[in-house]
This record gives sequence, structure tokens and C-alpha cells, in this order.
Amino acid sequence: MDNLIQEIPEVHEIAHISGEQLAQIDSCDMTCEIWLQLAARVNELLMSNKVDGIVITHGTDTLEETAYFLNLVTKSQKPVVLVGAMRPVTAMSADGPMNLYNAVTLAANDKAIGKGVLVALNDTVNCSREVTKTNTMLQDSFQAPDLGYLGYIQGGIPYFYRLPARRHTICSEFITKGVTELPKVEIIYGYVDSSSIMAEVAVKTGARGIVYAGLGNGNMSQSIKEGLINLEKQGIVIVRSSRVSSGIVTRNGAVNDDKHHFVVSDTLSPQKSRILLMLALLTTNDPVEIQRIFWEY
Ligand code: GLU
Repeated sequence: MDNLIQEIPEVHEIAHISGEQLAQIDSCDMTCEIWLQLAARVNELLMSNKVDGIVITHGTDTLEETAYFLNLVTKSQKPVVLVGAMRPVTAMSADGPMNLYNAVTLAANDKAIGKGVLVALNDTVNCSREVTKTNTMLQDSFQAPDLGYLGYIQGGIPYFYRLPARRHTICSEFITKGVTELPKVEIIYGYVDSSSIMAEVAVKTGARGIVYAGLGNGNMSQSIKEGLINLEKQGIVIVRSSRVSSGIVTRNGAVNDDKHHFVVSDTLSPQKSRILLMLALLTTNDPVEIQRIFWEY
């Protein structure tokens, strides 16, 4: 970590910076256990009056998930910014140094206070709820389809144009202090001729919730529907999300959610729905209450 900071001496003109390494992993190997450790450390650091903001470097594959998790469990208005790089450090034109410089710029700026956990890559500022990796290789991969960037970073200055509208950080009801394990939630994917077998296996192996990455507006085959109805009757919480990358999954739209006690994901992607459901399941498995949570976060 210190090497990374040494490579960009310009950041020392913006802020007093110290680095620490909580984990050194490919972000594909991120776990809920590391998330809980990270949240505890971030909350601890933010309580110190010596810390004005935090930058977290992270692999891009699961960066959006870590950002949204922290957005829900960080108990401070101080800026927390996640940053990554689409090009490797050995590339002819690596984007990591500039992204890191921008992330420090953002975390050190008062304009970032109170805006939830932010994601900064490619000169843009993104809301952790909406941002997603949209391209396997391009530098402008991190975007919020339809809903847009919160702002830009240009010439070392962040410019904001909109605000996150949903509950986050100090307005979030989720507390992970003392939590050592998150409830197990699995995602199952909708496709032609799919069945509920994966959901049933997930429940047999301990899942308390299923996020269905559904067709279109969270739609499902008769076969999946029967399977999920059965699981709901056993107390498993079912969230209907969508494999489509943007738009609202409408309640009682494609499926009668009231009748089957399903929850809809609103605009949350399946992977972010899973995070919100895991946190919700810490305190409730009532689908009405969990639907309230999905409308608010
Ligand atoms: N699998 C790597 C990771 O997400 C991808 C490299 C990267 O984009 O950082 O950790």
C-alpha cells in the first residue's frame, strides 16, 4: 500500500496520507467475513478526528458490491471512496495512478461529505447503489446505466450534479458491529427452460434467502414460480430482481407478489439485492418489512 502511495507523490499535496492493508486478494475472492472486518475498520477510523476521509483500493470485479455494502453499514458522513483500475499497472497507459489521485482528491473534498460511499474511476464520481461494471475491459466500464454519474473529477476538483436519493451511512438502519457472519443468500439466474433446482439446493445448503435474477421485469417460468412459492412457504425470503441491467422490477407486475409474499428489488441488481437481503435478514424475515427496506435503500 505504501508503495502505491509513493508512486504518486502528487497525492501528498492534497492530504496527509497513511496507508494500511486489510487484505491482499483478487476481488473475486472477497468474502462476507472480510466485508465485516473492513466495515469495522472503516467505522473505527472514521470515528477518529485525525481522519477526514478514506480511500479503498479494490479489484474491479466486485468493487461495486463492496461499495454498496459499506454504503449501508458505514456510520459516518465522512467521505469513503472506492477506486480501482481497468488496466494493469504494467499496461502502456495504466489508469490506476490517475484514478487513485482522483479518489484522494474526492475523499479530501468537503463536497463529498454526506454523499454515501462513492466510486471514482475514469474521472467520474458514482453512487455505490447504482454503479456497476458495464464492460469487461474498457476504461469507462464503471457506470450507472440510465441513472447516470453523480459527477466528474476534473483538474483535481470534484464537480457534483446530483445526489444519492436512497438511505445510506448515518441514515441507514443496518449495524454490523459485533456481527460475525451474514445470513446466507444465493442468486439464481433465469433463462429458457430453467428450473428451481438451484434454488432448492441453495436452501438445502443453508440459504435463508434467494435472489432471482429474473427475465425482463423479474419474470419467471411456471416451473421456477412453483419452486419459489414452495420455498417461500418454508420461510425463505424470495426477492425478484432482473437479469436486465436497468429498470424497476415492478411489484405485482409480472408476478403477483402480494399473493406469493415475494419481494421486488426495485432497481437493485441481483448482486446488490443479495447484499441488502443479507443485511435485512439480520433482523427480520418478514417479506413486508423487507419490501419496505428495498423501497428505501
Ligand atoms: N479479478 C481482478 C479483481 O477484481 C480484476 C483486476 C482488476 O480489475 O482489478 O480483483
